[in-house]
Amino acid sequence: MPLPDLRLPSPLVELTDERAQRRGVAVYLKRDDLIHPELRGNKWRKLQHNITAAKEQGFTQLLTFGGAYSNHVPATASAGRHFGFATVGVIRGEEHLPLNDNLALAVSRGMTLSYLDRQTYRSKTEPKVLQRLHEEFGDFYYLPEGGSNALALKGCAELPTEITVPFDVICCAVGTGGTLAGIAHGLRKEQCAIGFAALKGGDFLNAEVDQLQRDAFGAASGNWQIETEFHFGGFAKRKPELDDFIADFQARHGIQLDWVYVAKMLYGVFALIDRGRFEPGTRLIVVISG
Ligand SMILES: *Cc1c(COP(=O)(O)O)cnc(C)c1O
Repeated sequence: MPLPDLRLPSPLVELTDERAQRRGVAVYLKRDDLIHPELRGNKWRKLQHNITAAKEQGFTQLLTFGGAYSNHVPATASAGRHFGFATVGVIRGEEHLPLNDNLALAVSRGMTLSYLDRQTYRSKTEPKVLQRLHEEFGDFYYLPEGGSNALALKGCAELPTEITVPFDVICCAVGTGGTLAGIAHGLRKEQCAIGFAALKGGDFLNAEVDQLQRDAFGAASGNWQIETEFHFGGFAKRKPELDDFIADFQARHGIQLDWVYVAKMLYGVFALIDRGRFEPGTRLIVVISG
């Protein structure tokens, strides 16, 4: 089994930015985006223990779900190719040709794409729907949407243990909430996590993260919260203000931010810093998850 070249622990770099400095807040970036060119960031952390489990259980195929902009779908395709699994991506909605970059990458890594209309997609975890997929594709190791299951949370809980500087708060972007749920579980008592929802109307995510933690660890950790105002119109939607922020961040720090998740989170982080949400002396870790 060829092991991909993974950069782990991912680099931790201090960010020198006047917007934080003038509030006395120290910011470190946890560069999970540098883990691997394709198995990036939280997607590798979420897949890692699932790949091991799928191998141990003798599966030869992985099947997962996602929207057309899901980063989890191409990451699963890449992992499948690296580790010798066939892969199926079940995509919400209709096929749009040409495929966007995400889905084109998935296909180039050998993934078979299948489409579910939005209504059926909503009931994708029901036995009936999974049964039909089994009839069509045969045996598979099932990865839920976004890859967020108990083993994924376990992988994400390892992130804080890699951090070698003392810190108070860790910030991450939220899609399904699996990453936040895992990271929060991995914190020390005196630390807490803030998630930034990349989608509109993200209040339901509180219950999701709670449930994910209960399923994976038997209890919710209570040491996290979710900011829901920095969605810029909704999932995979953007506004000029966000694009300006990304260009400005690139000019200041030479880092091109992922716009679906990471830029929205960082915009939110600086907004909270500016509002005086963090006492001077606070040490923040910001997870660059992809
Ligand atoms: C998928 C993804 C997220 C969201 O992770 P969840 O565990 O689904 O909340 C955050 N950032 C990036 C870059 C991602 O690709």
